[in-house]
Amino acid sequence: MSALPHPAHPLDPPPSKRRLSWLLVFPKLAVALLILALITLLWLLQKSDREERHNILVKDVLWLEQSLRFHLQNHREQLQQLASELSEEPRSSEQTSLFRLRAAHFLKNNPDIARLGWLDATAENIITLPAHRPQSANSPQAQLLHDSFDIARRLGKAVYSLPYLNAPLEGQIHLLLPIYRHDQLIGMLQITYRLNVLLSSQIPWWFTEKYKVEIVDDNDQVLASKTHIEGTSSDSYLIPFDPPGQGLRLKISDYPSTQSPLQNMLTVAILLLALGVFASLWLVRGLMKKSTRAEAALRAEHAFRTAMENSLTVGMRARDLEGRIIYVNPAFCKMTGFSASELVNHDPPMPYWAPEHMDEARAMHQTVLAGLAPEEGFELTFMRKNRERFEALVYEAKLIDGNGRHTGWMASVLDITERKRAEELARQQQEQLQFTARLVTLGEMASTLAHELNQPLAAIASYNTGCLNLLSTENFSCAELRPTLEKIATQAQRAGRIIRRVHDFVRRSEPKRAPCKLRDIIDDCLAFIEPEARKRQIRIETILPALPTVFVDRLLIEQVLLNLLRNGLDAMADTPAPHRLLQLSVHLTPQEVRLTVGDYGCGIPAEIEDKLYTAFFTTKSEGMGIGLSICRSIIEFHRGRLWAEKHPDSPSGSGTLFTFSLPLEPTPE
Ligand code: ADP
Repeated sequence: MSALPHPAHPLDPPPSKRRLSWLLVFPKLAVALLILALITLLWLLQKSDREERHNILVKDVLWLEQSLRFHLQNHREQLQQLASELSEEPRSSEQTSLFRLRAAHFLKNNPDIARLGWLDATAENIITLPAHRPQSANSPQAQLLHDSFDIARRLGKAVYSLPYLNAPLEGQIHLLLPIYRHDQLIGMLQITYRLNVLLSSQIPWWFTEKYKVEIVDDNDQVLASKTHIEGTSSDSYLIPFDPPGQGLRLKISDYPSTQSPLQNMLTVAILLLALGVFASLWLVRGLMKKSTRAEAALRAEHAFRTAMENSLTVGMRARDLEGRIIYVNPAFCKMTGFSASELVNHDPPMPYWAPEHMDEARAMHQTVLAGLAPEEGFELTFMRKNRERFEALVYEAKLIDGNGRHTGWMASVLDITERKRAEELARQQQEQLQFTARLVTLGEMASTLAHELNQPLAAIASYNTGCLNLLSTENFSCAELRPTLEKIATQAQRAGRIIRRVHDFVRRSEPKRAPCKLRDIIDDCLAFIEPEARKRQIRIETILPALPTVFVDRLLIEQVLLNLLRNGLDAMADTPAPHRLLQLSVHLTPQEVRLTVGDYGCGIPAEIEDKLYTAFFTTKSEGMGIGLSICRSIIEFHRGRLWAEKHPDSPSGSGTLFTFSLPLEPTPE
């Protein structure tokens, strides 16, 4: 198991969509119920408030009705008292004065009384205070008074008249109280009430702050009204106004006092909070949906990443800025043989550092932490848990987190042991191949060598014969002998060089690059190939500019050139003698020197072009087929290129140009 730096644990299995939507139903239901409960609570509160106000209204109305009744009864009693005083004696000036005195006092204390009158038994006015112009007998008021007078006389008790409107909203009503002496009607006391003054004098201020009080008759005509407030009433209450009766009713209308700001604020706050809760739930729902989607994406990402990690053959290892391991992938665990739990949180020195390479590993570790790790990667020898060593190629890169912060280092580690082993094997094989090739070439060279050596030896022998002949004549000078002896020496040196080259060629040695004059290489090769070419009637043509010094292994480059020249000779075996021409040209550019060997031979068929450089590919009956393969290796070792192309000037149209390039490097000291 690998340890992951961020999602450290696998995610729990996902709840199904249906389960999630079921889970979402509960908070939705709870919020709906909460809002319902709040609305019901507000409604109940308002209802109880209304009922309470109605109860208070009823109580206040009863109180008002009672206080008005007491007031009117009190008037009747006082009037009764006055009537009994007036009935004691026959009408006299003293009694008139008494009436005036009482009446003035009465009126003074009761502003609701408009008039107080004393009538005789025939309803004629004796005294009326305050004095006023008597109404005509036919006026409705006079008629009302007259009717009430009759009723009071007949009933023998106090009677209220029907109400009437003196002016709009100024209703009036009479009270008539008969005066009897010895059971004989001797007169009548009359009070005229101003109903609106009655209301304003009897209703306390606080009552009118809350209610509108009206006196209405049978037809709901308003006779008097008192209020300080305006607006539409929410509740009203009608109660009979008796006394005076006569269909009069008290109408009390309630005006809802404006709710206190605190209460309003509370109501608004509750509603806003409920809305807020609902909105929050909606948001939470959205967030939950989002997080579910994100979770699913994360899960897919996690699965993808795990699959990727498990399929990786490259070891991955992450370290924090202190160099502690924070993550390793399964491939790294497999490579080192340690489990993730053994590696994660491990500080240097790491368990996979080989003890003999400890210093190197530690130095590289510090280099990486300093951010100086080579971009092209570096190689280290690591140790598996079973102490087996392996070669690792490590690439380090910065570990950047989601916020763009540099949090550590991520390394990809390749086990290159096998690759190195294969490379080493290939190198050894190549070396072996070269050696074998040299041996093979040696065989081929043997006959050439015999012929080659034959020439200087034959020359030496003939020069020697010439010298001996000269010596036998006795008539000779030393000066005549010198050039011949020098020629013998030259031929001997040439023979020696031929033998040395063969020796060098056969001797197995590492390529040794050294500054060499290109001209010497070319001259040597031409000298070597010329006899063979002569034998085959092949002309050799050279186009050579001023030649530079090159930094090469001379022997190897000579081998390449010789191989190309010899292939050229072989290719022209069937070319008519006059056309047999081997060309060697050199082309110089500022960066490189190109040597081209051209022939007018059989050419290279397209189908074998790809196989030319394959070892052991040959079209010759005695060929080995490794020449070109070795040539390419040698040239690539020198960081040059080798390629073949059609000879553009070949008369048969099938000749070949083989070119190899060598870079012109500054010659080291
Ligand atoms: P060998 O010469 O032993 O065959 P080489 O590797 O030198 O091995 O050459 C491989 C093959 O390439 C030759 O057998 C030949 O068919 C072809 N070849 C090489 N040089 C030439 C050339 N100049 N013209 C035509 N074919 C050539």
